[in-house]
Amino acid sequence: MGGSLLWFRQDLRLADHPALVAALQQGPVLPVYILDPAVLAERGAASKVWLHHSLQALDAALQARGNRLLVCAGDTAQQLQTLVQHYQLDQIVCQHDYTPAARRHEKQLHQALSAAGIAIRSFQHSLLLEPWQVKTKTGGPYKVFTPFWRNAQTLLADFQPPLATPEQIPGPQIQHSSASLPPEDWGLLPTIRWDTGMMNHWQVGEAAAADKLQAFFKVMTHYHSQRDLPDQAGTSQLSPHLHFGEISPRQIWQAAMQQPESEGRRIFLNEIGWREFAYHVLWHFPDTPREPLNAQFKAFPWADKPQDLKAWQQGLTGYPIVDAGMRQLWRTGWMHNRVRMIVASFLTKHLLQPWQSGADWFWDTLVDADLASNTLGWQWAGGCGADAAPYFRIFNPITQGQKFDAQGQYVRRWVPELAGLPDKWLHEPWEAPPLVLQAAGVQLGGNYPAPIIDHSFARQRALAALAQIKKS
Ligand SMILES: Cc1cc2nc3c(=O)[nH]c(=O)nc-3n(C[C@H](O)[C@H](O)[C@H](O)COP(=O)(O)OP(=O)(O)OC[C@H]3O[C@@H](n4cnc5c(N)ncnc54)[C@H](O)[C@@H]3O)c2cc1C
Repeated sequence: MGGSLLWFRQDLRLADHPALVAALQQGPVLPVYILDPAVLAERGAASKVWLHHSLQALDAALQARGNRLLVCAGDTAQQLQTLVQHYQLDQIVCQHDYTPAARRHEKQLHQALSAAGIAIRSFQHSLLLEPWQVKTKTGGPYKVFTPFWRNAQTLLADFQPPLATPEQIPGPQIQHSSASLPPEDWGLLPTIRWDTGMMNHWQVGEAAAADKLQAFFKVMTHYHSQRDLPDQAGTSQLSPHLHFGEISPRQIWQAAMQQPESEGRRIFLNEIGWREFAYHVLWHFPDTPREPLNAQFKAFPWADKPQDLKAWQQGLTGYPIVDAGMRQLWRTGWMHNRVRMIVASFLTKHLLQPWQSGADWFWDTLVDADLASNTLGWQWAGGCGADAAPYFRIFNPITQGQKFDAQGQYVRRWVPELAGLPDKWLHEPWEAPPLVLQAAGVQLGGNYPAPIIDHSFARQRALAALAQIKKS
């Protein structure tokens, strides 16, 4: 019969899709998504919910082009092999996946498929540049963002415009509707439906991502001054769309370059550069999701206090900006970048909890949970990674709140029990006079916790812990 099996992974879109274009050149296309239990076991709960909706959106887009998504469950190699043989296809096309687990898996997959005489071709879809393309003068990897990005931008002079969405995507003649698992059998949604509130904050899929990018362009010129204010819609919120490949960084790059030049645009594209850097670091240092890049931190004296981790997870630390962030995360599956930095610093430095515990919690609760960016972010905050914030720079959650949420709108939204407090006390309610607390209906240790730890004490303790590993 002939044709290609298009194996979708983190590329749930039809535009700027080199594997799809390559498949169409060979005839009919069988679009497939495999729910492989081994791969799904590594996904967080919020991310699975997003995936469910994204697959539905992709199926609808394929149906509009005369095809449909075949969703099946099982071992990837087995499923691919069975489908290729059943539909008598010539090849499999897919996107590169740069995560360490996928790289290990891919080796076995290639062996199994080539043993069965099946060709598999993989394309670059999800980054502006391959992680190995950007090299230092000596040919090694970068550990600092600025020179990495400077070099990467010179390579981007060769930028190829994104590929158009094909108008029609003809499928194989053999019908496959009966073989596709219906959405209720995908097993991606939780049994107790905590996800509905979270998903009210999001529109999922390629069309929603494109709309979001256009909406962001209306405020992009102010990005550099607004992006640190968590109560403002000053950032793009494209992260889950980028993670699932509903939009490609090349589409973002091209569209942004067509907007008027501005400082906002420059800084926004830098952030896209941070995403590239995260993949560069993960590619060259595949142990970093568990091991600190700075080996000195292996001996760090983390505190064994699970109740502190729990209070942090629940947004009950007594520090309003930290609690607001953790509750935004729980309710929406997303947290503003400035607040991610504050809560991550608080967990690792104030509470001396291992950065891996924070990364695990983010992994389970973020809709944009992404191994490269999450690892980079946590190692940055913990002071032990590539281009990390120095460990001795300890974010003060009170002054951070006062600076970036000066009118307290963010805290009031996510920690409503503090809403009645005047701005002056909002970020340090324990300093408010009893009458002010009473008038605002705040009972510290009652309806809102007293601080879990004293800031000055925590700071000294963290610095002492750092001194200990410096000596060793
Ligand atoms: C502790 C910690 C954990 C993080 N975990 C993740 C994660 O799991 N997934 C994730 O996508 N981002 C993560 N980030 C990075 C960043 O917080 C988010 O990408 C950003 O908040 C997403 O919001 P946005 O789309 O509005 O970003 P914008 O400000 O609009 O930026 C545009 C895009 O650039 C990329 N980007 C921006 N900042 C960073 C960054 N610091 N590192 C890497 N890429 C970046 C994202 O893809 C983002 O969508 C983490 C940061 C920290 C400090």
